[in-house]
Amino acid sequence: MVQTLTSPTTESVMEIMQKMGHENLVFCQDKDSGLRAIIGIHSTVLGPALGGTRMWNYATSTEAVTDALRLSRGMSYKNSIAGLNLGGGKAVIIGNARTEKTEPLLRRFGKFVESLSGKYITAEDVGMSTIDMDYIAMETKHVTGLAENRGGSGDPSPFTALGTYMGMKAAAKKMYGTDSLEGKKVSVQGAGHVGEYIIEHLSKEGAKIYVTDVYEDRLKEIADKYKVEIVGLEDIYDLDVDIYSPCALGATINDETLSRLKCQIIAGCANNQLKDETIHGNACLERGIIYVPDFLINSGGVINVYSEFASLPREWVVQKTERLYDMCLEVINTSVSENKNAQDVAIQIAQDRIDSIANIKTRR
Ligand code: NAD
Repeated sequence: MVQTLTSPTTESVMEIMQKMGHENLVFCQDKDSGLRAIIGIHSTVLGPALGGTRMWNYATSTEAVTDALRLSRGMSYKNSIAGLNLGGGKAVIIGNARTEKTEPLLRRFGKFVESLSGKYITAEDVGMSTIDMDYIAMETKHVTGLAENRGGSGDPSPFTALGTYMGMKAAAKKMYGTDSLEGKKVSVQGAGHVGEYIIEHLSKEGAKIYVTDVYEDRLKEIADKYKVEIVGLEDIYDLDVDIYSPCALGATINDETLSRLKCQIIAGCANNQLKDETIHGNACLERGIIYVPDFLINSGGVINVYSEFASLPREWVVQKTERLYDMCLEVINTSVSENKNAQDVAIQIAQDRIDSIANIKTRR
């Protein structure tokens, strides 16, 4: 059963960990470098807990704890549904990635990762780059997503974008009877690493693209390269579009935005898009909106990262990521035919795999 996520201010962190099934929550602090980080390890049933490190200017430590808990659980489901032999974990560093990220801070964080002896393997997420991962790798071997010139699998964003594009097309197939996105109006929220690659796919296919971002300079770069219409941060929810693609942060599908969204499909790369998985997943279903589960549609990046961990070739990554089209379509079909929240359908598939492998592990 899906637990409703509550704030650690109203319920003890341990109780929330019990409800959500977390194994560990590691608090990391270093005065000299200014590091404040939290590592969430949700499950190691399928393998070491792998998930990226996010650097974000959280308003409170409580927000950071909540994010670490939610994101690490999401990684367990993502790694499981993608068929990878990996558990779920995630780290958050509290701070402004543009102004507070330094070599000592990243290397100190690397030391904390190393202290977990491989139970947690880190990678890139929001606010981090491959160069940052190189600093972390100076202090720990438990890091993936390193630059290609260092023998790593490189930036996972193009594969996350490819998978998201595949999931968007699968949803279009179900909704419109064709997976062509030519002429479809798509709003992209967040023109970051993944957002830009999604815009590139959509441009090539002839979609009409609307885009927003916090940073004006980033929007200018995008507008110089692609035919897009720039819209305001809040205006994105009121547009008359076919597809809304959340590619920034989480919880953008909530009571307030759902009453404004006019799209028929929600398909984006952001993690934790539904503010409340049950309430807002059900609300999408009731409104006839196809919501493509976040941890499934955005699993292309971790598929790429896994190829580094398991020494698999690039062709394997591309094929497995393209197969997300079929997996998304299967989840959408089940959701529609059984009138069941798509997020719940995907979680069930992921949880079933974790449970079945846990059973095997106890046998000789
Ligand atoms: P990024 O930091 O490169 O890009 C995020 C962009 O969103 C930034 O340009 C930021 O300015 C913008 N943004 C932040 N808040 C916003 C808001 N309220 N409105 C509009 N724009 C806003 O990150 P990314 O790597 O592109 O990842 C984007 C999302 O996809 C994140 O939720 C991340 O967790 C998820 N994701 C990324 C990958 C990956 O391979 N990078 C894999 C899986 C999931």
